Amino acid sequence: MSENELYDVIIIGGGPAGLSAGMYAKRAALKTVLIERGVFGGQMAITKEVENYPGIPDIGGFELSEKFLEHAKSYDLEIIEKEVVATEPGIEYHSVRLGDGTVLQAHAIILAAGGTARKLDVPGENENFGKGVSYCATCDGFFFRDKIVAVVGGGDTALEDALYLAKITKKVYLIHRRDEFRGSRILQQRVFAEPNIDIIFNAVVSEINSDLLAGVNGLTLKNTQTEEIWQIETEGVFIFVGFSPNNQLVPAGIKKNSTGYVITDEKCETNMPGIFAVGDLRQKYANQIVLAAADGCTAALAAAIYVETRKVTKP
Ligand code: NAP
Repeated sequence: MSENELYDVIIIGGGPAGLSAGMYAKRAALKTVLIERGVFGGQMAITKEVENYPGIPDIGGFELSEKFLEHAKSYDLEIIEKEVVATEPGIEYHSVRLGDGTVLQAHAIILAAGGTARKLDVPGENENFGKGVSYCATCDGFFFRDKIVAVVGGGDTALEDALYLAKITKKVYLIHRRDEFRGSRILQQRVFAEPNIDIIFNAVVSEINSDLLAGVNGLTLKNTQTEEIWQIETEGVFIFVGFSPNNQLVPAGIKKNSTGYVITDEKCETNMPGIFAVGDLRQKYANQIVLAAADGCTAALAAAIYVETRKVTKP
């Protein structure tokens, strides 16, 4: 890599979407670089078990991430482990600015920055992060062995992680704001059958209670139907209330929906020619590893045609 080096494609993000894009871009003989600021695999890397990636019935998320990375590297994909601070669209080329001031240029950019766990935004949440408040059961569950914990949310992540925590803790309160889970039927069936999970429907957390030194010691809950307020004792609270796209690097002028997801066409291309968005950053029906990988493939194949056309018209 050198200042103003020209690539065919720059991929921002090393989760399943970005790594698949890297693999397909290299297979299409594109001069490609992938930039990742943190852990390869993104959300996949912090998922305990992946049971729904076709062809692999059961694998740890971290292990699957390593396989994605190894596979992409087997095509000699260039990787830069640095933070991107800006994506700047251009007429001739698009530019990507790194935190150290380096500017890279490319015909096409694939935005694969994923998303981040959403917060509850209630009193006690920020203050107790790491002191009982967690957003990752597989990372922190171990610290709550034989203790009482609470899980907040009703989607796949909440159900899956409540099941995981039920195996290692004394008891799990599963708190959901409606009387019906959003998560898949198969996970719901497992949750209903797990005696260690105590489901609390129609309730929201209004405060995370804590002791200055020991951290979280309970939750204040509010019934969404009756407005009744009560407290439960717990030493840990795992919050899984969804996800926000990491759209900070999406250039102004690129269309997003009302919740911040990038709108693309079927090629994963945005309204700016040569700028693609893939994986959890893009508006689509569902967020799954297999869909993120498929997006990476689609965008890389479409970018290959785009780059070829640019080179023919602008030698
Ligand atoms: P999600 O499906 O968006 O679910 C978020 C849950 O949090 C919903 O039940 C929502 O309630 C609740 N919620 C949102 N804001 C809240 C608030 N302020 N207070 C209380 N509750 C709140 O998010 P996710 O579970 O993280 O899943 C994200 C995507 O990844 C989904 O597409 C999911 O299918 C996928 N995923 C798949 C797997 C798997 O297949 N193994 C595992 C994990 C995730 P409402 O239902 O009332 O809106």
